[in-house]
Amino acid sequence: MADTSSDTAATATDTKVQAGSCLCGKVRYELSGEPFTFVLCHCNNCRKASGSSFMANVFFTQSQVKVLQGESDIKVYDDTENDSGGTVHRSFCSNCGCPIFATNKTYEGVVIVTSGTLDGEYEWKPQNELYCKRRRGWVPEVEGTNRLQETFPAASA
Ligand SMILES: [Zn+2]
Ligand SMILES: [Zn+2]
Repeated sequence: MADTSSDTAATATDTKVQAGSCLCGKVRYELSGEPFTFVLCHCNNCRKASGSSFMANVFFTQSQVKVLQGESDIKVYDDTENDSGGTVHRSFCSNCGCPIFATNKTYEGVVIVTSGTLDGEYEWKPQNELYCKRRRGWVPEVEGTNRLQETFPAASA
């Protein structure tokens, strides 16, 4: 019983901080607490932007994200020709080209963070898969995800 109450207290007071950085290390950031969702996106532009077969992004509110270093090294590409129609502001390191953040006016106050830039391990698991209609044939469905053929209903409005 004593253990249970101390666990509860620890959960309520401890805010986990997760560090992240770009490939060259010029840009460093810190995330406080839990993401509100973890999304795999199979859309054409996320593939181009990542140079891979899909993007794996963790969604945080702006106040949870702190850039510690290299703010002036961050460049933003305004991606207007994407599947969902809105403009996605894709931030990357101007030195190494590593994609770090994305913002989108559909998600006001949200910072989308590329999970590949997180330093070390984390416990979070993907919750949603978007643009499943564009999934590469060899990429399997990820267990436990909510799968949408396109984007979130709110984002297509
Ligand atoms: Zn870099
Ligand atoms: Zn996408």
